[in-house]
Amino acid sequence: MKFAELKLSAKTLKSIHGLGYEEPTEVQVKSIPKIIAGTNLVVRSQTGTGKTAAFGIGLIERIASGTTGKVLVLVPTRELAIQVCEELRTLGVYHALNVRAAYGGQKMMFQMRDLQKSYDILVATPGRLVDLCNRGVVHLSKFNAVVLDEADHMLDIGFRKEVFGILSQLPRERLTLLFSATVDAEVRQIASKYVPNSELIEVGEMRTVSSIKEERIEVLHAEKVPKLVEILNSHKGVRALVFARTKRGVIRLRRRLEDAGFRNVGMLQGDMEQPKRTRMIARFKSNEVSILVATNVASRGLHIEDVGLIVNYDEAEDRETHLHRSGRTGRMGAEGKVITFVSNDAPPPHTGGFRRGNQGSSSHGKRPMHYGRR
Ligand code: AMP
Repeated sequence: MKFAELKLSAKTLKSIHGLGYEEPTEVQVKSIPKIIAGTNLVVRSQTGTGKTAAFGIGLIERIASGTTGKVLVLVPTRELAIQVCEELRTLGVYHALNVRAAYGGQKMMFQMRDLQKSYDILVATPGRLVDLCNRGVVHLSKFNAVVLDEADHMLDIGFRKEVFGILSQLPRERLTLLFSATVDAEVRQIASKYVPNSELIEVGEMRTVSSIKEERIEVLHAEKVPKLVEILNSHKGVRALVFARTKRGVIRLRRRLEDAGFRNVGMLQGDMEQPKRTRMIARFKSNEVSILVATNVASRGLHIEDVGLIVNYDEAEDRETHLHRSGRTGRMGAEGKVITFVSNDAPPPHTGGFRRGNQGSSSHGKRPMHYGRR
């Protein structure tokens, strides 16, 4: 199918062409016509499937034709707010749309000033949006379309109260689009309350199944760093994202990689100020940094493409997180590799490297990991 068959305006087609998208993805084919027609949707789709452009194109067409006024896009994280804002700005450029973003970590005064100006689309994290509403800077009654992006993640990280509060203050007459990687009982409950008369759209499996090669390596705690060094050495020239569990773990691991002689190692963790994080993502994208050590802040929604290798230095705490981490590679059909360290021995009690418990031989047994249907 071609984008032109979706009966889009010439201006939107021009920006799609400029982005280099040749064909609409599955989620775009299924949801854009419904959004244009004004149907409330619950869409089950992962990041990496083209979901941002799906709601972006549909809503931009509605704004351009005057059927929708102001749009609110709620996203779980600052990083996603920046990414989504950027993509919507690009898609709406020939319609001269104003897209603004509001998220925590940015100076309140700056955001308040920015939001005094007119805009068509506001991309916001729930906490900051509630704050801005309480200060009288944003008026929820002005929006007549809302997108809940990564709804499951938004609930997981504790934005339940804010999301419910925001939804209940939006005008009743509105278009509501809920996007979620999983549609479980809780998401269904929200859908039945806040997304009336909705249609459910489900799109295919995450690319983990086809284009991502997964490997699990058993490694003792004390051998994790040498093993990581060995893996990175055998993937020279490949952009690598290494996930560690804690902020301190990220800082420590980065230092140890630098000690091991790697240059161009960057890090991304929650204690870093927003401008620093944004700069780091840009440096990784431009290959100035080729190894990025990160906590889960980097696992969702970031449009970091062409990551050839993901190393789960610390295993993800659940399958959901694992899939989202894996989503950083193999995007839009590119080949990707995910290596996960599995450590069955107790972690060392301090950073000096003292080991207790299982001192047996390190079995570097490899076995494939199968993540079936979600
Ligand atoms: P998302 O699911 O929104 O995280 O999108 C994943 C990536 O796919 C983004 O980097 C988009 O720029 C890209 N993308 C979206 N739609 C298309 C398309 N039709 N063709 C090629 N790439 C696309």
